[in-house]
Amino acid sequence: MVAIMTEKFTGNFTQQESIPEEGIQAALDVLRSGRLHRYNVAEGEAGETALLEQEFADQVGAKYCLAVASGGYAMGAALRAIGVQAGDKVLTNAFTLAPVPGAIASIGAVPVFVGVTEELVIDLEDLADKAQQADVLMLSHMRGHLCDMEALMAICKANGVKVIEDCAHTMGASWKGKASGRWGIAACYSTQTYKHVNSGEGGLLISDDADLMARATILSGSYMLYERHLAAPPAEAFEKVKYHTPNVSGRMDHLRAAILRPQLRNLDQQCEAWNLRYRTIEDGLRGTTGLKMVERPEEEYFVGSSIQFLLLDWSEAKINEVVKRCLDRGVEVKWFGGKEPVAFTSRYDSWRYAPSEPMPTSDRVLSSVMDMRIPLTFSVDDCALIARIIRQEVETVYQSA
Ligand SMILES: *Cc1c(COP(=O)(O)O)cnc(C)c1O
Repeated sequence: MVAIMTEKFTGNFTQQESIPEEGIQAALDVLRSGRLHRYNVAEGEAGETALLEQEFADQVGAKYCLAVASGGYAMGAALRAIGVQAGDKVLTNAFTLAPVPGAIASIGAVPVFVGVTEELVIDLEDLADKAQQADVLMLSHMRGHLCDMEALMAICKANGVKVIEDCAHTMGASWKGKASGRWGIAACYSTQTYKHVNSGEGGLLISDDADLMARATILSGSYMLYERHLAAPPAEAFEKVKYHTPNVSGRMDHLRAAILRPQLRNLDQQCEAWNLRYRTIEDGLRGTTGLKMVERPEEEYFVGSSIQFLLLDWSEAKINEVVKRCLDRGVEVKWFGGKEPVAFTSRYDSWRYAPSEPMPTSDRVLSSVMDMRIPLTFSVDDCALIARIIRQEVETVYQSA
């Protein structure tokens, strides 16, 4: 017993795997060529970026794909391309990360926050209540939790609301066998280091809508070189928009694309590796006194690149004590409910550029959300150890006066 109590974890919660050798080789080839800009291609050469777009479109079954500088950029471009203008309201999740309201604000639009349930998905009742306020929902599948997508789409359809999906945490996930990102009119992915594929920074936008994608492509800084794309709409779509769409440069370069292509080919295996680790932690935490698990619905195929649990109705002092005690034993659990934004955590009321009404039911959930990354550099045994540590510390603090 004494030995177990003092177990410590020594792994690094921000250490990702290295880039696959194939990606390193491809990156070296790009560097040696000197042609890093996506439109800088040799005679007969497609270019890594155009190939990445074509391959990702095929992989998710979308007609069109555009590779850009970040996930946040993809969201801003999608909103603008769909016709959102300065001053327009855009529905979005109260439980999400700063780049989401940030993308809405970047085009002068105004986020309207929709609540969160104890399952950590968007509150569909609250969505139905607020749906009349906007024409667009930027739906953030925050931390990989998918809501009942059929029910959500029905609400949005009934209210004439177009859905853009933020798939930063659901690349590789699906609901009832239909890929996340294929439910709305467009979807945005991030290829930033802490997401499911890693190019440092980067983003992907997919859609079947030719007009939207022609606008997004010009926005991204294609000049009149859009014919060099392999997963873009036909030239006619560009004819209609090319004189009216500003250039807001945010292209992806060949170097990042070269790194990403082999990672995308390996995505399914990576997702399985994440889920094995996720299930190990989940099994280890199940039944912990005072801790509420977030159960995953059967319809959802998720990617367990992070895990959440709730410490519902705990005091701030006790939650901070859990965080501290876990950290002392090498386990980085983050609390999303803190009054002050810390590192990547923040609450909707800390985005003061986007005024919000209080949402007591959501606030109760948000003030209890604990979050932990699961990098693939952790072994399954590491995950079992991490769960033991969290379990012990949560129970110790729960039982303390
Ligand atoms: C990371 C992230 C994004 C996009 O992030 P970028 O850093 O701009 O690529 C969007 N939504 C969520 C929920 C994210 O975590």
